Parts: sequence; structure tokens; C-alpha cells
Amino acid sequence: MNRRKFLLEKTALAEVRQVYADLAQQPIERNCVRRTECCHFKLTGRTPYLTRGEAVVAAKALRATGRKALPENPDGACPMLQRDTSNCLIYDDRPFGCRTHFCAAAGGPVARREVIDLIRRLERIDIELGGNGPRIFQNAIAEVLEDIL
Ligand code: SF4
Repeated sequence: MNRRKFLLEKTALAEVRQVYADLAQQPIERNCVRRTECCHFKLTGRTPYLTRGEAVVAAKALRATGRKALPENPDGACPMLQRDTSNCLIYDDRPFGCRTHFCAAAGGPVARREVIDLIRRLERIDIELGGNGPRIFQNAIAEVLEDIL
């Protein structure tokens, strides 16, 4: 990885994490109790899309667990969901969609208008990193993993 790219990604990591921190500060009723129902993409029929910055954060978190590639999850669940424990491998660095999605137990979906400024910030970071808009979870992270190996 060249130095410019390294610095860009370092900055993006900090900025994306700041977006997540700012989301947590919003006056939105939200309480994820880690039911992990939303993590079963095939069952729910919904898979999150990630901007490049979110994918960088998630990929780095996965690498920090010692893994170099996305784990297989043949049942169609999120590859970050550990099959034996049902824990998310990257919970603290999970993408924006995992924090705002449809789960009724967590408080229901967050309205786009309530977080539009945060979405715009993620979109700006995506452009800075040379991304091409949100991409489906697995592809977004797999691409970044190839780049940072
Ligand atoms: S990243 Fe974590 S919280 Fe998000 S869908 Fe995957 S396992 Fe669930």
C-alpha cells in the first residue's frame, strides 16, 4: 500500500468511527440487544450495503482477529457472525446499517432523515477513498481485504 493510500485510510478509519460515535449520541431510541436476527441475511432477505470507509473499518477489525479472509457462512448469514457463539466478530466496528436497520427489538428502523447528515459524511469518505458508492456487504469487505493484504 502506498503512503498516500495508507494516510487516506487512516484518516477514513478515524472519520468513520467518529460517524458511529456521533450516531450513538443522537437522541434516537435505539438499544441493540444482540439478538443477531438481522445478521441472517438469507432469512431476512436484507443484506447491508457498505461505503468504502465502512468496509475499511470492518476489514481492519476482521484482520485484528487474526483472519485474512472473510469466514464462510454457508447458511447465508453474515460472514462476521460466529456460528458457534452467535457473536459478531467486529461488533464495535460493525457498519452503519447494522446500527440503524429494521430490528424491532432494537427500536425499529432509524428514519433516513434523522441520520442524513451522517450518511452524507460516509458518502464523502467513500469518494475520498475512491469508492463507487455503497456495495453489498461481502463484496465491499472482500475488496478491501485484498487491498490491505
Ligand atoms: S457485521 Fe456483525 S452486527 Fe452486522 S450483520 Fe454482521 S454479524 Fe451482524
